[in-house]
Amino acid sequence: MSLADRIEGLRARIQRACEAAGRDPATIELLPVSKKQPVSLIREAASLGFTRFGENYVQEGADKAAALPGLSFVLLGPLQRNKARPAVQHFSELQSLDRPDLAGRLRRLAEELDVVRPVWIQVDLWDEATKLGGCTEAELPALIEALGGDPRLPLKGLMAIPPPENRAAFFELAALRERLQQDFGQRLRLSMGMSGDLEEALAAGADQIRIGTAFFGERAYPAR
Ligand SMILES: *Cc1c(COP(=O)(O)O)cnc(C)c1O
Repeated sequence: MSLADRIEGLRARIQRACEAAGRDPATIELLPVSKKQPVSLIREAASLGFTRFGENYVQEGADKAAALPGLSFVLLGPLQRNKARPAVQHFSELQSLDRPDLAGRLRRLAEELDVVRPVWIQVDLWDEATKLGGCTEAELPALIEALGGDPRLPLKGLMAIPPPENRAAFFELAALRERLQQDFGQRLRLSMGMSGDLEEALAAGADQIRIGTAFFGERAYPAR
């Protein structure tokens, strides 16, 4: 199947899910996830109008950003402190912020490099495998405090990777978003839903869905 055909099928899924949920598809951001996909395919997606892509690994994203000037990359994967500098240098946005010490480090780097990098806080309400990252609800206030309203790291919203079989998870995230918006008096977007569960995520209120395989096809790129 061609990339254009796959994207058309994906758009139809999004359209149907939005109709079922009484939502306007124009308000939903589709973020293609290009991890383990070749540069040539990302270039093809760019020719179809996509300019921002999600990546999981700092080095892979940095390499692709260098190969594809004019496109921007969003970091989705866990961020280690020792990779913070290249992450701030090469990614336009960071979605996996989950610790106050990391927030402090990113603020210093953004200042030093004189850049603005919108951030999303990754949450894990289900005590999932910690390797996926994410903070608990109890840890959120300290993390938001550590961001300190820094204009170089504007907080865009919450990102999560809920357990695959947990149907209530997307609604728990939507409820958490509501509580935080009340407590902090700030609008927050919700990034949730992937190829296998975008319908459930959109039904619960996702603003952004992150789609890898249903957009690009199977990840064929050899693991590094
Ligand atoms: C890989 C990945 C995706 C996309 O997954 P698919 O199931 O291929 O759509 C989305 N978000 C994150 C954080 C990922 O690591």
